[in-house]
Amino acid sequence: VAIYAAFQDITSRKNREVLLKNQAVRDPLTSLFNRRYFEDEVTKRISSTRMSGGEFSVLMVDADHFKRVNDTYGHKTGDKVLIELAATCEQALRADDIVARYGGEEFCVVAPGVEKQDFARRLENFRSSVSSKPVQIGALSIAVSVSIGMAEQHAADLESLISAADGQLYTAKREGRDRFVWQT
Ligand code: GH3
Ligand code: MG
Ligand code: MG
Repeated sequence: VAIYAAFQDITSRKNREVLLKNQAVRDPLTSLFNRRYFEDEVTKRISSTRMSGGEFSVLMVDADHFKRVNDTYGHKTGDKVLIELAATCEQALRADDIVARYGGEEFCVVAPGVEKQDFARRLENFRSSVSSKPVQIGALSIAVSVSIGMAEQHAADLESLISAADGQLYTAKREGRDRFVWQT
């Protein structure tokens, strides 16, 4: 019994460590990675791609007119919509891609070693599936859409990658939202 109790103690401590570690890297609302983890990870990946000369992609995904969702259904329901959007976004990407919550209703993704056409198709599918399938929150059926900007660069620094993706996102918004824009 004593050994078992000690074992329990160790496992619960281990669980706690895992939990605390997750709290440090995960966003509490959506469970996506948090911005700090994203920034650290991109910085690391930039140094490793610099060595291998590879290229990788950064995406900014922003919910369209999200203020209206809150104004119409309330902030709590808005939160639930964000949770759904985050899950859909994560499912749309690949296991190696880092999907994070960058800010309020904005997600960011870093994707290493993508085959461009294939990846663009995947993102286009994600965008169209969001706008064609309203989010179900209880009895409510809430229409949402996302705008996506993508930039690809060799060995850049974090700021320039983010601002390049942001520039594409801005174009997507300006051109009418519910679209995916990437640098060619
Ligand atoms: P745009 O298409 O230009 O992106 O329009 P928008 O309304 O999404 O953009 P804006 O930046 O004006 O507003 C963002 C909104 O997202 C306002 C804010 O209340 C909401 N938001 C940000 N974070 C959260 C959150 O954690 N929960 C909820 N429910 N809403 C959030
Ligand atoms: Mg928005
Ligand atoms: Mg925004």
